[in-house]
Amino acid sequence: MIDTLRLSAEGAKDLLDRKEVSGAELFAAYLEAIGERDAELHCYLHVCEESSAHPPAGDGIPIAVKDVIGTRGIPTTAGSKILEGYVPVYDSTVVSNLKGHGLRILGKTNTDEFAMGSSTENSAYGPTHNPWDPSRVPGGSGGGSAAAVSAGLAPWALGSDTGGSIKQPSALCGNVGLRPTYGTVSRYGIVAFASSLDQVGPVARTVRDCAYLYSIIAGRDPCDSTTVDSPEVVLPQGEDLKGVRVGLPRELNEHAAIDPGVRASVERAIELLRQLGAEVGECSLPRSVDFGLPCYYLVAPAEASSNLARYDGVRYGYRSPGPGDRLDMYKHTRDEGFGDEPKRRILIGTYALSAGYYDAYYGQAQKVRTMLIREHAEAFERFDVLLSPTSPTVAFELGAKTENPLAMYLNDLLTIPSCMAGLPGLNVPCGLSEGLPVGLQLIGPQFSENTLFAVGHALERALAFDLVPTRYRL
Ligand code: GLN
Repeated sequence: MIDTLRLSAEGAKDLLDRKEVSGAELFAAYLEAIGERDAELHCYLHVCEESSAHPPAGDGIPIAVKDVIGTRGIPTTAGSKILEGYVPVYDSTVVSNLKGHGLRILGKTNTDEFAMGSSTENSAYGPTHNPWDPSRVPGGSGGGSAAAVSAGLAPWALGSDTGGSIKQPSALCGNVGLRPTYGTVSRYGIVAFASSLDQVGPVARTVRDCAYLYSIIAGRDPCDSTTVDSPEVVLPQGEDLKGVRVGLPRELNEHAAIDPGVRASVERAIELLRQLGAEVGECSLPRSVDFGLPCYYLVAPAEASSNLARYDGVRYGYRSPGPGDRLDMYKHTRDEGFGDEPKRRILIGTYALSAGYYDAYYGQAQKVRTMLIREHAEAFERFDVLLSPTSPTVAFELGAKTENPLAMYLNDLLTIPSCMAGLPGLNVPCGLSEGLPVGLQLIGPQFSENTLFAVGHALERALAFDLVPTRYRL
């Protein structure tokens, strides 16, 4: 009996290495779990048959892949109707890397349309539900990957993060998610949202699994000129944090939007860090919270408006059958194919980039972005890592914020500043509030993933958070 609710990828690898199970048996166990629980949760937009999993033979660990990540021969929709029926003819580099390590793709996970959202409710194919409480959202945009890992529907998964789409759903579903340093993971073959921010990263049950998956996907890629070689990944082992300097940015820890239950869980984790030998101190990121979100909502839509120009009914997916000439076809396709959120962002972005406004909006936002980079760099002169809650709240009810885009955007208040600065961030589950998971984020300087893994691993051991959603415990 394979207990997918409790099996880590490392555990799966041990079973395979010891030949206690075959790759096919492992794959079948996850398919069975998907059959049991995914009708309720809707983590997957597409589930692979055992015969279509790549590589079909071999003893790899199964993995789920967010549907913005291109997979040869497997539909890739980015949660949008405009990409309905699109089947890539090539693999993204990250997927080639997975296959190179013998991993087998279980399926493609649900996402807010073009990864725009914080709850997965913007998916054109219907929302994903949180495995801890299906009346609640799993976070977003990568709610499908995060919920799948927490519900035992995949041992681990790939997500993508522009302003928090790995860290925030991991926090709301209670697992480990890494947004890597910008430029360490290839974006070749990924459906682009905001190119100066997008990063692919791992979602996992443990920090060690997360580090291992990161080691598989990271590295320079000749097909993506923004990539560099990253330092060799060290799988974390010890629990001693003697001398590690942990900074608590006041603005990210004391913000009025943070729920008291979230604050209390994070404070308990901070106390544990002290007991493990870390030196904990306060610091300030004075502009991050006030300027991070507004700055992001200029830069990201501006880049999105440009990236989404390619969906015209000619090259990919959906084409409107409506009447008229070629221009009418473009218009109808985009009108019918895009949902409200991408349209909203295309409008904002096109406006911000238009002649006469470019300097006032996009140019100004780029300057603010430089300030955010500098104030993080200053904080790292005194600290090795920074810590705060990942999300100001626990998972909220489906529908609670869909009518108010600004309320939805506020979910990313705490994750966006470091994303704007290109920095890596790790979500570690740190407790429950109202019976729902709370996550904390560890932020480090560029290329400090190994430090984040070491601190995250020590904390994970000390916290002993039980990842299995209470309703699935026997
Ligand atoms: N929630 C943010 C947004 O809507 C971030 C999304 C992401 O990281 N892809 O843009």
